[in-house]
Amino acid sequence: MSLIAQMKLNDHEQVSHVWDAATGLRAIIAVHSNALGPGVGGVRIRNYADEDAALVDVLRLSQAMSYKAACAGLACGGAKAVVLGPFPEDRRAGMHALARAIDSLGGRYVATEDMGMNESDIALLNEVTAHAVGRALVDGGSGDPSPYTAQGVIVGMRSSLRAAGLGDDFKGLRVAVQGCGNVGLGVIERLIAAGATVIAADIDAAATARAQQAGAEIVDNEAILSQSVDVLAPCGIGAILNTQTIPTLACRVIAGAANNQLATEADGQRLAERDIVYAPDFVINAGGLINVSDEIDPSGYNAQRVEQRVAAIETTLDEIFATAAESGKTTAAIAIALAKARMGRAV
Ligand code: NAD
Repeated sequence: MSLIAQMKLNDHEQVSHVWDAATGLRAIIAVHSNALGPGVGGVRIRNYADEDAALVDVLRLSQAMSYKAACAGLACGGAKAVVLGPFPEDRRAGMHALARAIDSLGGRYVATEDMGMNESDIALLNEVTAHAVGRALVDGGSGDPSPYTAQGVIVGMRSSLRAAGLGDDFKGLRVAVQGCGNVGLGVIERLIAAGATVIAADIDAAATARAQQAGAEIVDNEAILSQSVDVLAPCGIGAILNTQTIPTLACRVIAGAANNQLATEADGQRLAERDIVYAPDFVINAGGLINVSDEIDPSGYNAQRVEQRVAAIETTLDEIFATAAESGKTTAAIAIALAKARMGRAV
């Protein structure tokens, strides 16, 4: 399919290819939508098999950012950049080349961190362009997004419990958490503080040790998805809800931070058929975006406003679950329809 045909398929506004002769930087920047404001999204640095694989990734990720921002009620749109690895050896020169490309878009794309990037890279981008956010707290930025993402998962889990008819008290609840990294550990700590029993797994021994220290019971990662629990919270990798795993699930609710949890759209329907309440990932994990995008507010970063917006994830999910129940559609489909309506696009 031609590039323009691919853009047309999911309504992308602009795709820019970047080649910098001096550093060898190769990147693609996709702006999915500026309907609600500047397109905020991370820069992902990855060794893609080829350029087509990078293009598929950036188109998919930028669209998801639009949906995430719109569902979170933010005044920003969706965009994303991918850098085809390996990144130029001279990190500063490579980041400056990328920053010039970002700057040339005049604010239609605002870059932040994704895989392969860190706070110091944002500082390098900021040496050339103002259109990069995710600065350290000490530099007047929004700092680590993970605690906000974890808090969003907790309030979203409460809404999901109500939708499943399980009340909204965490006391005595059994929750299985896959992935005990920055977000997963934050979710575990909050759940244990609220009186839940947590069963956790990770592929990294240091991560499971931290979870155990926080009070979680550790099981083998192969066994985590089929634990008999009230809630499964995927906080590690994506595509774990698929034709193989869905028949083995023994939970009433899925509410976690991982991106792209459903392997395919049809897996949302498969969960509904098993009567499992699924909190769409791009709605429940918006806390990090809510935090970082606050840096572009004209009044400057405001932690209190961020906390209020993260708390509102609960009411947004309440609405999504209610509409899904009325319409018989999946929660993922309802969330996408909500995002499109807010973006003024045909549903
Ligand atoms: P992280 O890298 O700190 O932690 C991820 C953890 O998952 C690691 O401990 C890793 O060992 C584990 N893991 C990786 N593959 C696994 C597997 N196959 N099985 C079990 N565990 C596995 O990342 P994070 O910041 O905690 O993010 C977790 C998830 O949430 C990711 O999918 C991320 O894209 C998503 N997310 C994060 C944020 C944020 O604010 N950090 C925001 C939105 C979405």
